Amino acid sequence: MKPLIGVTPDFNAGDRKDMGGREPTYFLRARYARAIEELGGVPVILPLTDDPALQRRLFEGLDGLLLTGSGPDLPPSLYGERQRYTFRVMSRQRYAFEQALVGRAMKSALPVFGICGGMQAINVALGGSLIQDIAAQLPKALQHRAPGPATEYAHAVRVTPDSLLRRITRLARLRVNSSHHQSIKTVAPSLVATAVAPDGVIEAIEAADRRRHPFFLGVQWHPEYLFDRYAVQRRLFDAFLRAARRG
Ligand code: MN
Repeated sequence: MKPLIGVTPDFNAGDRKDMGGREPTYFLRARYARAIEELGGVPVILPLTDDPALQRRLFEGLDGLLLTGSGPDLPPSLYGERQRYTFRVMSRQRYAFEQALVGRAMKSALPVFGICGGMQAINVALGGSLIQDIAAQLPKALQHRAPGPATEYAHAVRVTPDSLLRRITRLARLRVNSSHHQSIKTVAPSLVATAVAPDGVIEAIEAADRRRHPFFLGVQWHPEYLFDRYAVQRRLFDAFLRAARRG
């Protein structure tokens, strides 16, 4: 049976000019769902509900959870900081739902794959924190908001030996695209960093306890833009779907 993969959409609560304007609207770049579908899973776009009973029912039906990227950022209050720079903050509906689902997935060892903002959501849900603005806080860092298209590689990352990411990619050095202005500051206690850019920016996290969590991975880059072209990026989705099929 193909595994059912819950995919979190973005949400305009009705306070934006784009994406539906004043009409509350879900939106999601289709390539997230396409990656899951083309590589052998069944993507299910999840409604962002506050109701714990509904959340539980949705969650019970899933074989895996894909946390997608987001334009707006998490509110820094979630990791105990005030907002120090100007950026748009994600709708409460989305972050509250994702934070709740990550907690559930951690408890039940459901396979989880977080991409870009999805990786940051995992880290914050489990007690980690974020660099609110790379350019302002790490002035010597690389340009992580790469000017080129997301289908092109932008920088390299070093992959930690003996990590899940290393086992999947079979590479010590991996090239990635880069479309983010925030990154992980402190890694959550139950996670470890397993890819780092040359400037020290953390580019992947995974569950520290890999025996309990066969696939609990977040990457700061966007493999959904790369999997068509690069087998190594496709293997991330393949490994996720394999774990979801087994679970
Ligand atoms: Mn980057």
